[in-house]
Amino acid sequence: MKKRLQQIQKKAKEEIASASSWEMVDKLRIKYLARRGLIAQEMSQIGSLPEDERPEVGRLANEVRKQVSRLINEAKTRFPRKFRQVGPRIKGQIVKSKDITIPGKRPPQGHLHPITQITEEIIDVFSRLGFSVVEGPEVELEYYNFTALNIPRDHPSRDPYDTFYVKEDVLLRSHTSPVQIRVMEAAQPPIRVLIPGRTYRPDTVDATHHFMFHQIEGLMVDEDVSMADLKTVLSIFAREVFGFEVKTRFRPSFFPFTEPSADMDISCFLCKGKGCAVCGQTGWIEILGAGMVDPKVFEAVGYDTEKYTGFAFGLGVERVAMLKFGIDDIRLFFEDDLRFLRQF
Ligand SMILES: [Zn+2]
Repeated sequence: MKKRLQQIQKKAKEEIASASSWEMVDKLRIKYLARRGLIAQEMSQIGSLPEDERPEVGRLANEVRKQVSRLINEAKTRFPRKFRQVGPRIKGQIVKSKDITIPGKRPPQGHLHPITQITEEIIDVFSRLGFSVVEGPEVELEYYNFTALNIPRDHPSRDPYDTFYVKEDVLLRSHTSPVQIRVMEAAQPPIRVLIPGRTYRPDTVDATHHFMFHQIEGLMVDEDVSMADLKTVLSIFAREVFGFEVKTRFRPSFFPFTEPSADMDISCFLCKGKGCAVCGQTGWIEILGAGMVDPKVFEAVGYDTEKYTGFAFGLGVERVAMLKFGIDDIRLFFEDDLRFLRQF
């Protein structure tokens, strides 16, 4: 074996000396030094030698390998390396393109749906006012959708023609308000939550109605919460979303779960209050419903009605998006037509 190693060394020396190109030297490197090369093959057999011979043969094999390696490295410096076949590299990867300055192909990039954009914008405003986001089930018990919200048995919204019933006491929620009850059942005041989500009503689909639409509900409960807090919070929201010059006004209204109740209008941000088609020549646009939480709702969740007061509001996200983006047909939001969606 010692002899074979010496022969390998001699042969390698001759072959390396007669090599006439970098590529030939590299082939010899593979022949002698690669993992399955001639020297490695010899070394793999050292284990089968008598134990007392192993150290010496091992040393010799290492010495031969070092020598051949040194000769090959020296030989390689004799020839200019041809980079032609290698090609340009980007981050270590060889690229096939001859011109690496040609711009790459950009993958198509999507963006958020306009409804999601508006929802996130509104959440952002209220989160700066200390409201946190809560979500609830879209398939809801009648108790949460109606009873706990002080909506009486004979109220028209309970009618099957106005609500999608799954079975007798289970329905697709007709508003996001049931989540108010779920929040108050689970926690004690102070409460400041924003509740975005899908709601369902069996409306005939047309330019301003859809059987599914998005609402954002807000609820604030604490000691000494008053109508002044409601007006302040909602006026800040209106200015942040529709522009700083927007004015707000509150008109008396009715909701079973708030008392007193109000509708909030904003001054038309398109005509600045002069009157146009969007505001119906009135200069005002109705934007949301709100009110002080009815004590009967607090009783349903076991809150002390002497200690706590609160306000709630709800708005339609599609309506806000239609106003802000100047969209005149609600159906466009749900048709997945990219020609429409790409505009936002
Ligand atoms: Zn107007």
